[in-house]
Amino acid sequence: MADQTQETDEPSAPAGPPPRGPWLGRALVISALALWGVVVSLRLPDPDRPRPPSAALSRDAKPDPEDLSDLTASTTSDGHTYADDEEQQEPRSGPKRALERALAEAARLHAEAAAGRRSDPSRGDPDDQDDAPRDPRDRLPIAPWAGDLSPPAQVTYVIKRGGAMKMVANLYKMHYHEILAYNPGVELDKELPPGTKLVVYRAAEGEPSESVGSAGDGSLVGGVPMVDGPGRILRMEPWKSYATGHNVALLDAILREWSRRYPNDRPLLVGNMAQRAGGRLKPHSTHQSGRDVDLSYPQVELSGEEYNWREMNAKNLDAARTWDLLELLYETGAVEMVLIDTALQRLLHEHALAQRRVPKGELPAWLEYPRRPGTTEAFVRHHPGHVDHLHARFHCRPEEPRCTSK
Ligand SMILES: [Zn+2]
Repeated sequence: MADQTQETDEPSAPAGPPPRGPWLGRALVISALALWGVVVSLRLPDPDRPRPPSAALSRDAKPDPEDLSDLTASTTSDGHTYADDEEQQEPRSGPKRALERALAEAARLHAEAAAGRRSDPSRGDPDDQDDAPRDPRDRLPIAPWAGDLSPPAQVTYVIKRGGAMKMVANLYKMHYHEILAYNPGVELDKELPPGTKLVVYRAAEGEPSESVGSAGDGSLVGGVPMVDGPGRILRMEPWKSYATGHNVALLDAILREWSRRYPNDRPLLVGNMAQRAGGRLKPHSTHQSGRDVDLSYPQVELSGEEYNWREMNAKNLDAARTWDLLELLYETGAVEMVLIDTALQRLLHEHALAQRRVPKGELPAWLEYPRRPGTTEAFVRHHPGHVDHLHARFHCRPEEPRCTSK
């Protein structure tokens, strides 16, 4: 039998006939294999290193570079190679050739590992790349829950402490004939008990709901009032609660998702949106076209304080949850920007760095701070007056050709 190659992943298998060759040749082979063992042991601490498959050698196979890679499979963690392997792997082409191949193979594996680390961001220490510019979208793809939204077909208002339907019409600045048509059989002036539900909006067939112009100089066609539901406390006057039907559905989905993710948190306060037909809504310069909404910041609960809008600072801003909220808004793919006072952006920036809340390389895409206000297209931008609430603006939609974003 000329060849005695064996499957080297079975080191306990019978070694077969004793190897031949002069003593000097055997010593060189062992030296080569020992060197290979050292090379392998140096590579071993990286468990992700690409490893060639362990190929079993057929009895008639000629030795090829794969021979030596087999040794990798039978190398123990301390770099020791099995004695059996040393004998089984004696190459026919000479010890010098084996050493060359071992070195070439080591160089090849090293180059492969280095290339792998470059091309695969999951490899290696993530801190190495923390500063590299990153697109938040890579980490936060558009969420399925934010897609395929249907505008509400009907919106109801629940009378809390009593009152007549006329009062509800006034809250929404609706015409009496409209609310009468929505609620047949209910008299305008009759006192209604708490808990009575009245319809305040019903979608009409073919009626458009569309944002027109810009948020700072625009109007709203077919405004839909905001719906109640989980994750929110509606704190605006009802006549300031309008948006496009799509944006009402989107905000509803955002708040439902918020409540689903953080069921033990207090709901967010929802503030002003737009008037039914849009246009100037004092004291805001924007909120004109059904794309804006004011929301409370996630607050640290301080004892003795009722839950309300309040000026935020390092003590009462829940920076971690605010990041959660920003990411949730971002995940919709439908939020154009968020307005947050630059002083609070600084707190968010510090928190992100200290807690590694977001990769450092993403920060310029998230926050305008520490750059000068008005100089960036960051997701979060400064605008005066946003210390006690943040302001989210939704994108124009392709279905809204008259909607503009300046
Ligand atoms: Zn606002």
